[in-house]
Amino acid sequence: MSSQPSQLAQSIKPSPTLAMGARAKQMKAEGIDVISFAAGEPDFNTPGAICAAAQESMNLGQTKYAPSKGIPALRKAIVEKLRSENGIAAEDHMISVTNGAKQALYNALLATINPGDEVILIAPYWATYADQVELAGGVPVVVQTTADQDFAPSAAQIIEKISSKTKAIMLNSPCNPTGAAIDRSVLEQIAELAIKHDFWVISDEIYEKLVYGFEPASIASFGPEALARTVTINGCSKTYSMTGWRIGYACAPKAVATAMASIQDNVTSGAVTFCQAGAVAALKLPDSEIEAMREIFDERRKQIIARLRGMPGVKVTDPRGAFYAFPDLSHFIGGKLKNDLELAEYLLNEAHIATVPGSAFHAPGHVRFSFACSPEDIDRGMTRLEEALAQI
Ligand code: PMP
Ligand code: GLU
Repeated sequence: MSSQPSQLAQSIKPSPTLAMGARAKQMKAEGIDVISFAAGEPDFNTPGAICAAAQESMNLGQTKYAPSKGIPALRKAIVEKLRSENGIAAEDHMISVTNGAKQALYNALLATINPGDEVILIAPYWATYADQVELAGGVPVVVQTTADQDFAPSAAQIIEKISSKTKAIMLNSPCNPTGAAIDRSVLEQIAELAIKHDFWVISDEIYEKLVYGFEPASIASFGPEALARTVTINGCSKTYSMTGWRIGYACAPKAVATAMASIQDNVTSGAVTFCQAGAVAALKLPDSEIEAMREIFDERRKQIIARLRGMPGVKVTDPRGAFYAFPDLSHFIGGKLKNDLELAEYLLNEAHIATVPGSAFHAPGHVRFSFACSPEDIDRGMTRLEEALAQI
């Protein structure tokens, strides 16, 4: 039995979002005209000033290990950003730079929960949340939101799930996969619950700049008691189109920040040194450049939602942030296609459109379409979808 892989090895699943994106790329490489709505990855090039800063850093010989917590210049830029834009009383010792926000989330879980602790997740949630909680030995406890409430949780729904074992809640506003946003008043109530019941808030704010008529708020800015229980997560992947650079960051109370850095010390060491120099330039980018990208996403959002709404049997809410449409396609399920997994397979094989089935996000019957692709692809892809759905 000693040659058996671990129990963890037998339970861990690949990321469904990455898997679908990879399948679409593979089919394209084979010459198939696949339109990919799969991966949450902006199609823009990384802005030139960011690339130039990384190149300069490399030319200056900044190619050695970086401190596990991140280079001082980036930590400083993050502190300034969190203070001025988010109203968070951040200090240098609270910051850790990570290999993507994904690692920041995982380090945060490892630094806050014990085996058997419960972590509240708001479904539909990004698939990785539940898998990371389980990897860290925690137990996901799900608050299920519905399209009728625009996938935004109420405080009452959260209260129902709080138990003596609750150790943390993971929030993601704006949300992947629904584009839902949590209003400030509800965030304030969640902060009060965290203080009263003494649990952690892990607040993933990676889509904060991709909002459509919605003013995001950071729970860590609601005063010292909220700050003392919150780990704020963010990163460069989405806002600056830097998915491959792998730069994320976290702001946490000192004990947790220190533990996160020690975990990182022993697992990956610091994020790539010259990518961190690029991230410094990213955080200093003029707002106008980010706004230009946001406006383009907004156009695409309107385009894809209008097309989806025009299809008989399709129900879809308006995303208030991020770059995903999350229609309910349950009307097409139950006959020859048994569930959303089969529906996504059918769309990929028959219509050559790559999507991610809602089951991956704890939302069966739905399918996620990332609209971080060109308007032409949205147009062609929606025509293919309409034809494929009509044939079911
Ligand atoms: N949080 C959310 C909600 C996401 O959708 C993603 C996916 N990119 C991440 C975190 C992680 O991003 P990265 O690791 O590329 O910084
Ligand atoms: N977060 C993105 C998505 O949901 C990228 C893929 C991933 O990191 O899982 O598609």
